[in-house]
Amino acid sequence: PRQFFVGGNFKMNGTIETIKSIVQHLNDAKVSSDTEVVIAPPALYLLLTREHLRKGIEVAAQNLFDQPNGAFTGEISAAQLKDSGITWALVGHSERRTLLQESDEFIAKKTKSALDGGIGAIVCCGETLEQREGDKTMEVVIRQLAAVSSTVKDWSKIVVAYEPVWAIGTGKVASTEQAQEVHKGIREWIGKELGSEAAEKTRIIYGGSVSEKNCKELAKAGDIDGFLVGGASLKPAFVDIINAKA
Ligand code: 13P
Repeated sequence: PRQFFVGGNFKMNGTIETIKSIVQHLNDAKVSSDTEVVIAPPALYLLLTREHLRKGIEVAAQNLFDQPNGAFTGEISAAQLKDSGITWALVGHSERRTLLQESDEFIAKKTKSALDGGIGAIVCCGETLEQREGDKTMEVVIRQLAAVSSTVKDWSKIVVAYEPVWAIGTGKVASTEQAQEVHKGIREWIGKELGSEAAEKTRIIYGGSVSEKNCKELAKAGDIDGFLVGGASLKPAFVDIINAKA
């Protein structure tokens, strides 16, 4: 069985004070030990978060660069994250794909550099509303993931986050059926591309307007192995989402 995985992506939100208070809330919360929990504050607050957060909850960067060190102003490497106790990085979030024009190839390189540097990668994929309405959902998601699989064959440290762009920050959550259908398609594709063991073991989590209200229903679907939570990860109700399966 795959361990349930819940990530909190704070995006560009928070201050020293509010992040300390979220961390304190998580430290005090009753969190299901069956669930792997990872929070991703802005880079500036990674060390503070790691310092205050209790053991057993992990910290992720929202981004990293594809080189280990050197003259890359403004960037952070996997080696530096690892050195700071940060064990995961988000890669390929739709906001970065769109706003910063990150390509599938660059995202694949960053995924490889995360794994080479000894941290896990939460690889995000997902279609826009226009692509869904044009029946292109699977084509888009597979194209995004295929760029990664052409560069990285060992997916044991990869978590796939399916985040339909139309569901992110909109309050329009995918239905359990819609999400399950895509997750199942992704798993079948992983099976063909990387083998049945990878398909069986890879966690495929859902993101896009996940809340304490819809998480239990989504968590029932056989191929939904957890969540990547944006807005709700900043609120106390994040704990209810962590415990969706409990
Ligand atoms: P929301 O949960 O705010 O819709 O954001 C989802 C997301 O983009 C997580 O990475």
